[in-house]
Amino acid sequence: MARTIFFHIMILEIVQYGHPVLREKCKRVEGVDDELKTLADDMLETMEEAHGVGLAAPQVGLNIRFAVVDVSHDPECISYLRVNGEDAALEDVMPLVFFNPKLELLGEKEAVEEGCLSIHEVRGNVTRPTEVKGIFCLLDGSEIELETDGLLARAIQHEVDHLNGILFVDRLSAAAKLSVRGKLKRLLR
Ligand code: ZN
Repeated sequence: MARTIFFHIMILEIVQYGHPVLREKCKRVEGVDDELKTLADDMLETMEEAHGVGLAAPQVGLNIRFAVVDVSHDPECISYLRVNGEDAALEDVMPLVFFNPKLELLGEKEAVEEGCLSIHEVRGNVTRPTEVKGIFCLLDGSEIELETDGLLARAIQHEVDHLNGILFVDRLSAAAKLSVRGKLKRLLR
């Protein structure tokens, strides 16, 4: 995917595990301005450079309900996508830049391995519902209702968790938490 690179785009520093901003409940975004659009560009570039599929504002030190997701590297990672009730193609909504999400979790629960750009070298199975239906505010001022499953549903849940100060390691099973405890302790040093 080609994206126009403007001179102002910056790779941002990704806040790491242990930083208090990762534990804050983020504030609502009150409106779209040029600063927010620049932040979106910078966060997309930062996520891409780090080979991530999602990045939330607190991960770059800002406690606002704002995040970016891009799973377009794998068109097979979802089985359906509906925008405002109509079937949509993944490339039409990727990258997804959203704020003030309202999320409904649906479907069966499934355990899938996750990692996080803010928690280096720690991975673990997280059990989450397989489908989401959410209302997302977009940078053009519109609101969309998006329903999907697969990696996109999971990435959205992971990023919305960040906006509530929740990290994937909080959602590991007791046994898995125990097995990553040493690694997490080392990250705090
Ligand atoms: Zn994360």
